[in-house]
Amino acid sequence: MLPDAPASAPADIPPLNGEPLPLEFVNTVFPVRGALCDGFRTPEHVAWWLGACRHRFATHIPDSALSGIGASDTHCFVLLRDAARRLVDAYVHQHDSDPWDVAQVNRVSSLGRPWPQLRWNTGGRPMAVEVGTAPPIVAVQVEIAHALVDLLGGESGMEPRACPAPGCVFFFDRARSRREWCSTGCGNRARAARHYARHHRLSGT
Ligand SMILES: [Zn+2]
Repeated sequence: MLPDAPASAPADIPPLNGEPLPLEFVNTVFPVRGALCDGFRTPEHVAWWLGACRHRFATHIPDSALSGIGASDTHCFVLLRDAARRLVDAYVHQHDSDPWDVAQVNRVSSLGRPWPQLRWNTGGRPMAVEVGTAPPIVAVQVEIAHALVDLLGGESGMEPRACPAPGCVFFFDRARSRREWCSTGCGNRARAARHYARHHRLSGT
């Protein structure tokens, strides 16, 4: 189990592939038994994902914030995730973006005004935490929006790619490991599909 994951997970949770945060966020749409599944379809799903990823946010996310997630918070996560997903897709396929999606990300990016503060507990190591006027559930969306702006428009050094394996819908950062696929499993499936296609072309079946 992941170090900060809640003890009980709801059904059909998205995989955590260890991608940079904005890509992990858009990868919360994932295939289950041949159909696309929304990893944020209930407040419990949003709480699970945030709990599992909380160590990746500068925002401190207390348990009370996770248990307080409601339907409107969930709706906000879905809106931001869907806009982010379309923007990443447009980026990797070099299409024009939808101005509505850009506006969604920019709107969230401007919420609150977080600033870094030093937290240094006795006996521990110093760490930077973000504080601001937005409640934690909004502040984490702001962090995601900032990271997404940096990913698509800044100089993050990341190379987002869409996994080309058959049936895969995930995005991954090719700069991290020079992979062609999001995972070893997808690489194996893509090679097997290529082998199958070549074999059938040669045999004429
Ligand atoms: Zn894949």
